Amino acid sequence: MEIIAATNNANKIREIKEIFCDAKIISLKEAGIDCDPDETGNTYEENALIKARAIFSIAKKPVLSDDSGLSVNFLGGRPGVYSARYSGVHGDNDANNVKLLSELEGVTDRRAEFVSAVAFVSEKGEFVCEGRVEGEILTEKSGEGGFGYDPLFYSYDLKKSFGVATAEEKNRVSHRGRALRALSSLLKEQGVLDD
Ligand code: IMP
Repeated sequence: MEIIAATNNANKIREIKEIFCDAKIISLKEAGIDCDPDETGNTYEENALIKARAIFSIAKKPVLSDDSGLSVNFLGGRPGVYSARYSGVHGDNDANNVKLLSELEGVTDRRAEFVSAVAFVSEKGEFVCEGRVEGEILTEKSGEGGFGYDPLFYSYDLKKSFGVATAEEKNRVSHRGRALRALSSLLKEQGVLDD
């Protein structure tokens, strides 16, 4: 089965391809679709469905989307669904990391979690799964790997930052890895994907 990944984020596409091995994942560009739906939902799940439905309505082919973000305890769950545009400019990872460090300056409770909701939409229906990974926000960057907030996120599972983890290590414990593996099992259970 060929599935369109409903994102223009190259890092997400790379991780989805690495983790979701049950089908051939193609990008929006490869599918010839130029579309960036507005994320108007209040939850990861709503936004994941908005993106997947929008692309499915154009492509009429199976679509997989991810909506994700970082939830920081001390900040009452922020930046949450606004993680990509936390600093004001959509997708400016450096500015987002600088803002996060400044909001947490001198703060001792640095607990945080990454959350990912993945949605699959096809003529066989709509399916959504969520994954989470717990950790804390470091006081300075550790490593250059991954993307977004990865260099500032110390994973309790890995006992190191996502910035120094290999792709395989991150995918094994990450919010996206957990959500996509749950989705894969659900789709197989429902007979949407072959075992
Ligand atoms: P969206 O799902 O396109 O709204 O964007 C999610 C945003 O959350 C990204 O731009 C990153 O800032 C952050 N994010 C989500 N997943 C990860 C991850 O695996 N590592 C680092 N940052 C992430």
